[in-house]
Amino acid sequence: TKLIADRLEGVKPSASGKASQRARELLAAGIDVISLATGEPDFDTPEHVIEAAIAAMRAGDTRYTSVGGTPALLRAVRTKFQRDNAIDYAPNEVMCAPGTKNLIFLALMATLNEGDEVIVPAPHWVSYTDMTRLVGGNPVVVPCSHNNGYKLDGASLEAAITPRTRWLMLNTPSNPTGAVYTPEDLLEIAEVLRRHPQVMLMSDEIYEHILFDGVKFHSFAAVAPDLKERTLTLSGVSKGYAMTGWRVGFAGGTAPLIAAMKEVLSQSSGSLCSISQAASVAALEGPQDYLAERSASFQARRDRLIPLLDAIPGLRCHRPQGAFYLFVECGGLFGLRTPAGTVLEKDADVAAFFLDEARVVVVAGAAYGLSPHVRLSIATSMEKLEEAAARMAAAVAKLS
Ligand code: PLP
Repeated sequence: TKLIADRLEGVKPSASGKASQRARELLAAGIDVISLATGEPDFDTPEHVIEAAIAAMRAGDTRYTSVGGTPALLRAVRTKFQRDNAIDYAPNEVMCAPGTKNLIFLALMATLNEGDEVIVPAPHWVSYTDMTRLVGGNPVVVPCSHNNGYKLDGASLEAAITPRTRWLMLNTPSNPTGAVYTPEDLLEIAEVLRRHPQVMLMSDEIYEHILFDGVKFHSFAAVAPDLKERTLTLSGVSKGYAMTGWRVGFAGGTAPLIAAMKEVLSQSSGSLCSISQAASVAALEGPQDYLAERSASFQARRDRLIPLLDAIPGLRCHRPQGAFYLFVECGGLFGLRTPAGTVLEKDADVAAFFLDEARVVVVAGAAYGLSPHVRLSIATSMEKLEEAAARMAAAVAKLS
């Protein structure tokens, strides 16, 4: 008999996780690498949030809580959805879990039967497809064109829907492209979904606070309130509040779906960390002004790095409007030979070349469902970004 269950066949470990791990290993071995692979802000968790966690521990807030979140956190989450997203959720329509990632898993686990389909517009966050497979569903990847800002259009959505479609995954601002859906973009999608009542929409809004150029964020359920019952709105403290390690995500959706997701949570991890929940209340209810300051800082890095990369022959940047990644077209390097003698043929070769020759860690676009690209995180200091660009330029100059 086999040790590992069949359901794990075809499920890949996260590509960005693998690249980050490789960077940690090289650093531990004393090799001077610059990692542009990670999906987390380089800022620290705000001081008042850390104080709230310490106070919670001292107050004995160290036990199991209700599955799905403490009353205080759920109150803060409902207020947050009203304040930031213009969506009203009733108390039984919200829940929390250890990360937005976990909430996506809970939702898929609670709703998908074997062979059900999940539409994933590409380029997409690496986990949507693998999580779908893990619970027995079929991801249906729909490529989105550069000409449409890498956003899903109504006609492509319509063509991908079948009677087996259960979910559309939508991610705004997007990892990896930084595309932000306008109300018009969202209404175009809503128009199609209205014709297909079997399809639900998962709106992954984890990067909602990281926005550039004065762009405004819009939640799907606020723009198309008639589809609120079919929408699961997801966000969390990880990216905006620089709290990736605290593991708190929140969801708003229809009561039966939230109840089913809590059921899965109660039989897997159970309640989430009590201390992290107290910290998240402080994050959501405390000052919000630093969110815009951090966005401005990411924007400055974007504006510094894009011209440096665009000046490298063979690379072409897309300009993100949010999140903290650059999704860089690298097909112009294909056919060239590295000093080690390899001919670059796919984006994984380009990522390996930048690691070997420039000691810069990037993630190959294939993992995001759209080649030929590499993804770079700009959640690193300006000095490191400049150094990385200089090393990449020097490495490309050695190609023949
Ligand atoms: N959704 C997207 C698009 C992400 O990029 C990430 C993290 O990389 C997550 C969800 C996971 O967030 P969390 O830390 O809340 O689990």
